[in-house]
Amino acid sequence: MNLKKHPIVIAIDGTSASGKSTNSKLVAKALGYIYVDTGAMYRTLGWHCLQKRVDIHDPKAVAMLCRKWKTSLECVEKNHLRSVHLLVDGYYPDQEIRTAEVSAATSLIAAIPKVRDWMKKTQRSCNQFGNLVMEGRDIGTNVFPETDYKFYLDAKLEERTSRRAADGVHENLAARDQRDSQRAAAPLMIALGAKVLDNSKMSSAETSAWLLAEIKKLMPPVK
Ligand code: C5P
Repeated sequence: MNLKKHPIVIAIDGTSASGKSTNSKLVAKALGYIYVDTGAMYRTLGWHCLQKRVDIHDPKAVAMLCRKWKTSLECVEKNHLRSVHLLVDGYYPDQEIRTAEVSAATSLIAAIPKVRDWMKKTQRSCNQFGNLVMEGRDIGTNVFPETDYKFYLDAKLEERTSRRAADGVHENLAARDQRDSQRAAAPLMIALGAKVLDNSKMSSAETSAWLLAEIKKLMPPVK
């Protein structure tokens, strides 16, 4: 009998600015799980391509850069939240990856199958750190399809656009969503069995409370 326990993975996918990050962090804090922002990993590669002046429209050049990329994962704790960071030469480009230019570059390089293979391997290895709340676009469909905990967040486009604007970022979310859902490799879509929430009219306190209640229903009773 295999008694080895696998870490739990809570997959939170959804459209851009649908509240994945805020709510994934709240859920991770409440459960004492580790938060993983897979978008930040793709963004870090997008940023790195721009830094190295690699043509983001050339899949072969991006795949080559990715293959030779020197990175490491570290689990850090800040404000009672543990998170996994992807470091480039020991550095986490936390601020640099949040610009509209990096967002646009990222959704292009994220369509490259070799990039997605690399990301999937790296993201799956995050469970070395423990139980995870992992947010992204393909976590429930592709990265951890075996998890029982799958969620999909969405909100009306106008609402999501104004949420991003409130953060000081003005970008064409519709174009990014379209690229993310129409690419051939692991497109954004609702995973089979995922619980879907449109949180257009909900606060993050309400969204995270809904997520925690749904997670609780799925957890086996404590004996
Ligand atoms: O979530 P965030 O907006 O930071 O993601 C940036 C971009 O990274 C997305 O628009 C998408 O192109 C890509 N991404 C992805 N798969 C993930 C996470 C992000 O393709 N799991």
